[in-house]
Amino acid sequence: MTEESKPIRKQHEALLRRQVQVCGVVQGVGFRPFVYRLAQEEGLAGLIGNDTDGVTIEIEGTDERVAAFLVRLRSEIPPLARIDSIAVRELALTGQVGFQIVASEVIGRVSTGIPADAATCPDCLRELLDPADRRYRYPFLNCTNCGPRFTITRRIPYDRPQTSMAKFPMCPACQCEYDDPSNRRFHAQPNACWVCGPRVWMVGADGEEIAADDAVAACIDRLVTGEIMAIKGIGGFHLAVDATNDAAVMRLRERKRRYGKPLAVMVRDLDAARTVCELMAVEEALLTTAARPIVLARRRKDSGIADGVAPGIPWLGVFLPYAPLQHLLFADARVRALVMTSANLSEEPIAIDNEEARTRLRGIADAFLMHDREILQRCDDSVAAVVDGAPQLLRRARGFVPLGVALPFDAPPLLAVGGHLKNVFALARGRFAYQSQHLGDLENLSGLEFFKESLEHLMRTFEIEPQAVVHDLHPGYLSTEWAKGWAQERGLPLIAVQHHHAHVAGCMAEHGLEGPVIGLALDGTGYGTDGKIWGGEVLITRLDGFDRFAHLEYVPMPGGEKAIKEPWRMAFAALRVAGIDAESAAALSGANEQEARVLERMIERGVNAPLTSSLGRLFDAVAAVVLNRRVVDYEAQAAIELEGIAVDEADDQPGYAIDFVGGNWDASDPVRISAAPLWHELVNDLRAGMSRARIAARFHAGVADGFVQATVHARMATGLNRVAMSGGCIHNRRLARLLRVKLEAKAFEVFQHSQASPGDGGLGYGQVAVAAAILANHGDKKP
Ligand SMILES: [Zn+2]
Ligand SMILES: [Zn+2]
Ligand SMILES: [Zn+2]
Repeated sequence: MTEESKPIRKQHEALLRRQVQVCGVVQGVGFRPFVYRLAQEEGLAGLIGNDTDGVTIEIEGTDERVAAFLVRLRSEIPPLARIDSIAVRELALTGQVGFQIVASEVIGRVSTGIPADAATCPDCLRELLDPADRRYRYPFLNCTNCGPRFTITRRIPYDRPQTSMAKFPMCPACQCEYDDPSNRRFHAQPNACWVCGPRVWMVGADGEEIAADDAVAACIDRLVTGEIMAIKGIGGFHLAVDATNDAAVMRLRERKRRYGKPLAVMVRDLDAARTVCELMAVEEALLTTAARPIVLARRRKDSGIADGVAPGIPWLGVFLPYAPLQHLLFADARVRALVMTSANLSEEPIAIDNEEARTRLRGIADAFLMHDREILQRCDDSVAAVVDGAPQLLRRARGFVPLGVALPFDAPPLLAVGGHLKNVFALARGRFAYQSQHLGDLENLSGLEFFKESLEHLMRTFEIEPQAVVHDLHPGYLSTEWAKGWAQERGLPLIAVQHHHAHVAGCMAEHGLEGPVIGLALDGTGYGTDGKIWGGEVLITRLDGFDRFAHLEYVPMPGGEKAIKEPWRMAFAALRVAGIDAESAAALSGANEQEARVLERMIERGVNAPLTSSLGRLFDAVAAVVLNRRVVDYEAQAAIELEGIAVDEADDQPGYAIDFVGGNWDASDPVRISAAPLWHELVNDLRAGMSRARIAARFHAGVADGFVQATVHARMATGLNRVAMSGGCIHNRRLARLLRVKLEAKAFEVFQHSQASPGDGGLGYGQVAVAAAILANHGDKKP
């Protein structure tokens, strides 16, 4: 800063000193150097330091300059920072000269925040590809505006010795940048270069290091010949293969034992993404955020991507490079599109450690590109989609974790363990809930280990000691069982929350609603208060409780869990419940004579045929009949294909009829939403030779109409006009869009998720909202 740029103080101007407390994501994101620069430019004296909830700033100068500083503080915020609140207090003048950045301890307790991992920023990318730069082609360059954070941090405070960069002492050049408040790398904890930082090397299928002058170039040579490479990234290893090479993609599927589930594809940049997908502006914005999620977008017919990447659906999961190493792969013109999928066998947690990768990926990868910067937190790529014009998270992980999501009111320290599939737990304290990364299915021990490891880390990170433990009502969930044991060891109270109550409450909490509202919980599987499996629910919902107003008619699931993996079973049962004769039901569902007899008996006797009101199962059943989809390879496959086949059909197709049976439209006696007329009309259309796409569209419209009519009845009974939609079926774009449009046409105010997932990944957040409300109300309750 030069002398001339400092303002000359005029005599009539009043001097003042202010304390400015900023809460939000303001640590480890270049906020202090930003404030330092602002203060210099405005000619203000003072100091800044990290504190418990954010940063504390003190500024001293003329009222005019202080006011200008406060305006710019908000408007010029660094790219990775987020301001949740600013509190300004008066202080006495000190006559201080100059502005300084002070150590955390000066201002009180150590800081608690760790930012999320962020994609390589444009400045770093320029250096990476500049032959004159000292970091030319260095695979680990970063600065305060980008780089790994969450995945390299062991504990707080977020400082280099507490990260996996601890073992790389900075060289003098890096140290200079690190110490200079005007440098982009001031206090950039993972700062490194060729001289002092981590390195990459190549390892063969046998686990032995392969000598190569340029390991990245050697990796590219193998990729372009169709080999499967295990590449260590930010949150774990990826398995990478040329996405335009059919044979290579099939070989990856076989080795990974993952047959149907779509694979994500990474391409060089936004222009390249436009050549494989038809992108809307919102999708382009989502693709280029610092979180760089996988975005599910409409695949172009001429994409050139191998058919085996996403068989049977019109979408493709596409994403852009977010680490320097990935940018280097795509800097080679021969690399156009790479399948980049989490390195694991189906449903296991992603591999992060070099040794672990060598063992677990033996027989899958042809070679490994490894590095020596340890990954301390497993973190998959996040997955998002634009649903009804707005971004929706299908999997919340890298780039979003551990950012807090606001709650409508203060919560005591809580742990909510989430559900069973796609588990995500949530820790709450004060105004925020911190969700874990996507942990996968808690069906096996490796899943549970990942859960425990992540919980310990987040509790440490946010210094949260839970005072109560929240779990799903389902007694059979591994998460429920674990929660009970953990709470007992610590003498903590337990709160059980019904699955769909948590879904709807999550949506409400995101919008600051305490209710009551009309909740639509449209979902796959959730344990109901009557011991049956719910999932097609109209719930009059408060944060602290709910009444069941209407639900889909119960249908048996012949074979229990097996009926989820084999939709033909659901189809047979649903057709029988709709009053269609056994012979026709067998023909339509694709059951042979023997199978039909067994199922008929199960349904009649109610043996191993639990009852469900799940909309997800109705989708499965219809997909089995319309698409002949007998078995599924991954969760919700049948429903996703049914939505996919209708993708070009207009929204205004007349819906199949829905009936209401029993009940009396008040919450004491829920009305049952019957799909019987829908099935009869659908079967007639099928027999008349109507296109499967048209039938799928009419089915979606019928479901939406049925729930909209039930919602209208709920408004008549309660006077409520706000509708919160949640549950895994809300991932279905057509359904979400139709519901919103039809509800708004009837003047409802409609709320949807944006920060937590509507699927089971958002369950932990909803559980926190419910438990916090219950605890708050208990405190108020008069005897
Ligand atoms: Zn950068
Ligand atoms: Zn260095
Ligand atoms: Zn659910």
